[in-house]
Amino acid sequence: MISNVHTHSVFCDGRDTPFEMAMRAFQLGFVSLGFSGHSDTGFDPCGMRDYNAYRAAVAAEKERWHGRMEIYCGIEQDYFSGRAEGWDYVIGSVHYVEHGGKKLAVDWSPEETDRIIREEYDGCAEAFAEDYYALVGRIFDVTGCDIIGHFDLITKFDEEGKIFSGARYRDAAMGAIDALTKTGAIFEVNTGALARGYRKTPYPAQWILRELRARGAEIIITSDCHNKDFLDFGYEKAVQSAWEAGFESALVLRGGKFERAGF
Ligand SMILES: [Zn+2]
Ligand SMILES: [Zn+2]
Repeated sequence: MISNVHTHSVFCDGRDTPFEMAMRAFQLGFVSLGFSGHSDTGFDPCGMRDYNAYRAAVAAEKERWHGRMEIYCGIEQDYFSGRAEGWDYVIGSVHYVEHGGKKLAVDWSPEETDRIIREEYDGCAEAFAEDYYALVGRIFDVTGCDIIGHFDLITKFDEEGKIFSGARYRDAAMGAIDALTKTGAIFEVNTGALARGYRKTPYPAQWILRELRARGAEIIITSDCHNKDFLDFGYEKAVQSAWEAGFESALVLRGGKFERAGF
């Protein structure tokens, strides 16, 4: 049972129209497709400017595919957009930290991550990670999300743990894991960085998946898709990664509910 609820279209920073994406999803045999345009923060260039046009376009696809494939209108709500209301579901994500009076991007580029650590944090990557996970730990309370987006996004350009792996890094991540697993929110296993060639394995890292499993958290597999050719990219790797961490199922959005589907 295949599905994806983390997708971006031309209404934010994605390449394709909702119709083009839905057509491809249908060809791939999806049971459901959820759109999750980036929320408007007022400063993020990736944010949607026109929620009404987005809602109308997704509603048209809902109508078009009725009876053949379920279409949902969600949002990827950034921490700095506050509470999300009126969507089929909400993915809560931290893309920026606030430090020294500036908003600093967590996943812009390897060069920007290096620059932030060097210039904004005086070379202290742990302090950057602590700021990041402090916000992640509050993402459910702030946005009211159903799904925690890309939990350890800060490691996007550091799959091998050369920058983010020490005790302070792990403690910061554990604090967010403890806070969020108590809320019952779903954790995303996100393959987005695989399609873009930054990583060979999905987020979250294996050790985090194991901690989530030990706390009884539920997961959902997505590809954080910005291009219809990558709608199910890396799903086999995501299942393998989740399986190795002890998960035997993931959730799928179907009939208006997140239901469990075995691997
Ligand atoms: Zn995101
Ligand atoms: Zn996204």
